[in-house]
Amino acid sequence: MFVGHYSVAFAAKSDRNKIPLWVLFIAVQFLDYIWATLVLLGIEKLHVIKGFTAGSMLDSYFHPYSHSLIAAVIWSVVAALIYKAICGRHGRHYSKSAPLIIGVAVFSHWLLDLIAHPRDLAIYDNTWKVGCGLWNYREPEFALEIALLAGGIILYLTRNAMPAIRKGAVIAFGIGLVIVQIGDTYVPRTPLTDKTTVTGVWVFYTLFVLVAFAVEKIGATTKNHSP
Ligand SMILES: [Zn+2]
Repeated sequence: MFVGHYSVAFAAKSDRNKIPLWVLFIAVQFLDYIWATLVLLGIEKLHVIKGFTAGSMLDSYFHPYSHSLIAAVIWSVVAALIYKAICGRHGRHYSKSAPLIIGVAVFSHWLLDLIAHPRDLAIYDNTWKVGCGLWNYREPEFALEIALLAGGIILYLTRNAMPAIRKGAVIAFGIGLVIVQIGDTYVPRTPLTDKTTVTGVWVFYTLFVLVAFAVEKIGATTKNHSP
């Protein structure tokens, strides 16, 4: 699962919880950020194999600290607590449910990965591996990614009041993510090394976070503090 994860970020944002979209973009990929970091450190292991599944080259044969079910639950709680602590410290107004929403957004990553991944997601440690393996079926997996993303964006546009110019930017962003997914699923490429692959994960995910940040600034009314 790739851009489908962002459907949860778009769907979770509302005028009530006021969680910035870019924060939700980090939350839904929080487990992959940890995974990419641990692979870079040589703690978790990855093989990049051409044709490993129809829709992905990633053989994540050892990722218990980022992608086991127990780890996913723990990281979800940690992320919720971090969000609560940061909002509290900065005296930022946030709804009571916001930390819970962050936790659920982080955990959604594991559930969506469960649909796509082959049986490489451990329940705990590196054992009892599960995965529905939708990545073995390229078109259905691609269709699911796009359908989820579209659904999330539609919810985002209906639940949040915004100027027309930002609506346009959100839709353009969505189209951009679809193009990235087309490239990932359909454009043939030679497998990169494990470290280069996860560096790419860091770079692309962070780029999307920055775009999510910028999009929510578009058309925002600037408060004029006159002396
Ligand atoms: Zn993942």
